[in-house]
Amino acid sequence: MGSVDFDQQVRLAAFDRLRELAAATSDGVLSRADLLAPVEVAGQRIPLVSPAGEGIWKPRQIAEPLSVLSSADPSAGVPRYGDQIVGGRQRYDYRAGGPDRWFNRALAGLAQSGTDLIYVVKLRAGEYTAAWPVRVVGNDPTGGFVLIDDSRTETVTSPEVATLGDRLLASEATARYTTAPRAVRLHQQAFRREVLRAYDQSCAMCRLRRPELVEAAHIIPDADERSRPVVTNGLALCVMHHAAFDRDLVGIDPRYQVHVRRDVLDEVDGPMLRHGLQGLAGQTLHLPQQRRDRPDPEFLDARFAQFRYAEPT
Ligand SMILES: [Zn+2]
Repeated sequence: MGSVDFDQQVRLAAFDRLRELAAATSDGVLSRADLLAPVEVAGQRIPLVSPAGEGIWKPRQIAEPLSVLSSADPSAGVPRYGDQIVGGRQRYDYRAGGPDRWFNRALAGLAQSGTDLIYVVKLRAGEYTAAWPVRVVGNDPTGGFVLIDDSRTETVTSPEVATLGDRLLASEATARYTTAPRAVRLHQQAFRREVLRAYDQSCAMCRLRRPELVEAAHIIPDADERSRPVVTNGLALCVMHHAAFDRDLVGIDPRYQVHVRRDVLDEVDGPMLRHGLQGLAGQTLHLPQQRRDRPDPEFLDARFAQFRYAEPT
């Protein structure tokens, strides 16, 4: 056990399993039972996550971790998902005990080996989502964390792959992966789901509640490095109000009041403009029931400055 071939087979079987699971769900949400159902390779049965609920899952049969688990829920006892993004990479904290504990060494070792693994996020009780293959692309033993790239934009072959054997395996693996359906970036998927839940699936400006037409907007845009995929940086908006917000035709001040750009207010046009945009001026946003889900006034403040700047003088 623990041979490169066997390890790689386990990983590929696990990725195949996830692909099947993903194809069978409409929203990419997996159950704990889905993740605990073992893949079978050479008579060994290996689940995709730790049966004990631990964050770093290294089955005894293979040499390196197969998956890591984060949670959107801070009380889950595994690293928190979403609020720690460094240069577009997910920060994943070591388990307690210091860099010399075997599980932390196993995690850090992934930064050197470049081995692909699965990144699982617990969304809420019994609901999970996953991205694969992801890679550990950085390690900070002093800070006690690694950085995980879940963008899928990096190929499996990379200069960090140490030996020729590894290179060959990696290029074979690349061929396998390209047949996989392109996964939605994990954090975007989790973000969308959480924001729509917080707003009860309806537009915060007009209350439209057609799932096909309601989206999760970022208050601090995703491209901005201060942006976080957390509910307090999100707004559920219908496609029209999302587009209007992104283009700074409407703005929201830190007291949740909607503002409409002056030149838009002065325009004369049909009912869509009148009801859809001009009518919003001075209205208060429809907020999530849960106080902790409401937009962070600091995020709104930063974004509102941009809206003000966009207004014609
Ligand atoms: Zn709307």
